[in-house]
Amino acid sequence: MRHRIAVVGGGPGGLTLARVLHRHGHPVTVLERDPAPDARPPGGTLDLHEGLGQRALEKAGLLAEFEALSRPEGQAMRILDTAGNVLRDWRPRPDDRANPEIDRGQLRDLLLGPLDVRWGQGVAHVAPGAGEGVRVHFADGRQETFDLVVGADGAWSRIRPAVSAVTPHYTGITVVETSLDDVDTRHPDLGRLIGDGSVAVYGVNRSLVAQRNSGGHVKVYARFRAPLDWHAHLDLADADAVRASLLALFDGWAAPVLDLLRHGAAFAHRPLHVLPVGHTWTHVVGVTLLGDAAHLMPPLGVGANLAMLEGAELAEAIAAGTGSGPGAGDLDGVVRAFEERMWARAAKWAEITTAGLDRLVSPNPAEALAQFEEVQPS
Ligand SMILES: Cc1cc2nc3c(=O)[nH]c(=O)nc-3n(C[C@H](O)[C@H](O)[C@H](O)COP(=O)(O)OP(=O)(O)OC[C@H]3O[C@@H](n4cnc5c(N)ncnc54)[C@H](O)[C@@H]3O)c2cc1C
Repeated sequence: MRHRIAVVGGGPGGLTLARVLHRHGHPVTVLERDPAPDARPPGGTLDLHEGLGQRALEKAGLLAEFEALSRPEGQAMRILDTAGNVLRDWRPRPDDRANPEIDRGQLRDLLLGPLDVRWGQGVAHVAPGAGEGVRVHFADGRQETFDLVVGADGAWSRIRPAVSAVTPHYTGITVVETSLDDVDTRHPDLGRLIGDGSVAVYGVNRSLVAQRNSGGHVKVYARFRAPLDWHAHLDLADADAVRASLLALFDGWAAPVLDLLRHGAAFAHRPLHVLPVGHTWTHVVGVTLLGDAAHLMPPLGVGANLAMLEGAELAEAIAAGTGSGPGAGDLDGVVRAFEERMWARAAKWAEITTAGLDRLVSPNPAEALAQFEEVQPS
């Protein structure tokens, strides 16, 4: 039996779900708000863990392609104190494939492959109906009916209100992101400081992380504790003003570290919001969530991994549970079992990343070092 399945959101979670369904020959409709794959910058590099994101890619039949594209050397991590002293300089062994990095754009293209995504299809909300399917209401007023709608539409999900009244709350920690291009030719000293992977510097209630993407592109993240309106007297579109404000905030840190901010051309403000640890909901027939829509947590290298594994597992379960064998046709049973499994695993990771963020942007930055031993896939 072929159910009508809509995936709202073409991020890592939604695309993995669609790609694994496609692999099993199951039709699926992907509805993505962005008008085209390259409509906005794809964001920084992602590390995909062996037991999570890489397992999902294996289920999608894409592990070999990922291995060819990804950067195992990008796992390297250097930690400095604010005076610029190296506290830790970790480099992976050449055969270490635990958490290789991949650019988000490369991952998206890998997952897209043969998928026929419907771009420019923003969903406004969904209305579950008694036994008649779920009505998807588009932003432009159109409507369409599906048997199952999966909300993979991220932090500010338009599908979530159909199952849960909970909304993300601010963590008290914000991020200002900037980037450097052609780092090895334009800023060779910074290129050496960052190395093959990342450099992280922890001060009191603030941290600075620079992470190498492919092609000499570097993303720099300034994280600090601040009220949500900390920029009330600052024009966030004025790069010079934002840069000056960050340099004042990180005043006293070693000059090479501050150069990471000094050379940033444009700045984006990304306050960190989360859903409560252990967010669940009363099951609603025909609608479910995965990824950030279900369990938005601090960005400590797990969110995309979880979204992808959830997408892959749900797709496999749909393909197995709605085929022609015993129990076939029980789409709702498949979704209920998926939700239980997702909730249990996500709660564990939400706890780890919440505690991790508190330590990484902490009044006692020495504690940050212990964090790296703990945020590992199980
Ligand atoms: C700075 C930073 C670094 C990170 N690093 C890592 C990392 O190294 N490893 C890791 O695992 N995670 C990392 N994360 C977390 C990761 O980015 C997210 O957890 C992950 O992207 C969630 O995937 P998703 O598919 O659930 O949602 P998203 O990636 O948010 O995708 C949602 C998609 O839905 C679309 N959409 C939204 N609303 C609608 C709508 N109404 N209708 C249709 N489409 C819609 C959006 O356009 C988007 O394409 C990081 C996050 C940040 C902020």
